Amino acid sequence: MPQQQPLVPETADYQGISLALDELLIDYAQGRAPHALIISGVAGLLKSDIAHHLARSLLCTASDKPCGECAACKRAISGSHGNLLVVERQGKDTSLKIEQTRRLLDTLSLTPLEKGPRTIIILEVDTMTPAAQNALLKSLEEPERTDSFILTTKNEQAVLSTVLSRCRVLRLFAWPAERMQALLERRGYTADEARELAKNAPGLPGAALAVAQNKKADALQDLAARTFFSVRTLSDIPPASMLLKDARDSAGPLLDLLEQEAHVAIQSAFSGGHVYCKTGWQGASPGALRVVLEEIHQAHRYRFSNVSWQAIADRLLFTITKEIHQCQWS
Ligand SMILES: [Zn+2]
Repeated sequence: MPQQQPLVPETADYQGISLALDELLIDYAQGRAPHALIISGVAGLLKSDIAHHLARSLLCTASDKPCGECAACKRAISGSHGNLLVVERQGKDTSLKIEQTRRLLDTLSLTPLEKGPRTIIILEVDTMTPAAQNALLKSLEEPERTDSFILTTKNEQAVLSTVLSRCRVLRLFAWPAERMQALLERRGYTADEARELAKNAPGLPGAALAVAQNKKADALQDLAARTFFSVRTLSDIPPASMLLKDARDSAGPLLDLLEQEAHVAIQSAFSGGHVYCKTGWQGASPGALRVVLEEIHQAHRYRFSNVSWQAIADRLLFTITKEIHQCQWS
């Protein structure tokens, strides 16, 4: 499984999928974006990633757009670029809300926050009510000179024809196998892993990546369950330590998982068991859990120092046995 996600997918990731997209990649990089583009295709084609990539092409200040390195690209990637407006479903919502459209229209009526073009990404526009789509029409029709819209949809039938007719439509289909293989390898998977992932979701890199993420999350949960969540006595520590030996590359997400669980366990302690904590930390005192939580924060800091992962993991295992399971050691 991958050691690290690359920070910025390069334009090459999206080349060779369709001639129309190849043309658009060049147009956006050269500042010839259409006023409004809608990317249409089933789920799993990385439409959102492509929309963000095209948007960054417009905002990037380097010559090779999007470079992923300049201040504009970095702010676009972190979601803090003042001229990049993203409208997407919130939390467990199944649709975009009319209030989101209203807020967007209010923002569009103001002067752009930064110099240069303003880019608006609206993901899954098909989940907007017809009324909300109608409200958008005027902006799509008479875009400010510097505004550029990028919409996505997995269901073109649910997009008003008046909206569609104001957009250039990019229809995406299944990715060619070799392009998908290349993308998965660039995202850190070995050739064999990429082939295996592609087999389960032919032509749909987004679906393959989601499966991989779930597998990774399951493996991490399993490792935590067999180590940090199960140690109780001193004799449990050496085997747990052995299991954690090779987990250095997953240390960040693993510590995040522990942190999350410590918070759940603390909530559980205060709720009288109403919030159920599924790990062995259920029933520990809030005081003990706070000490463990502080040790997890400390472990995060140690990761960026010279302390070895093994030493960090061992220290954490000892703290857990001592604080949560009152194991005496000196
Ligand atoms: Zn840039």
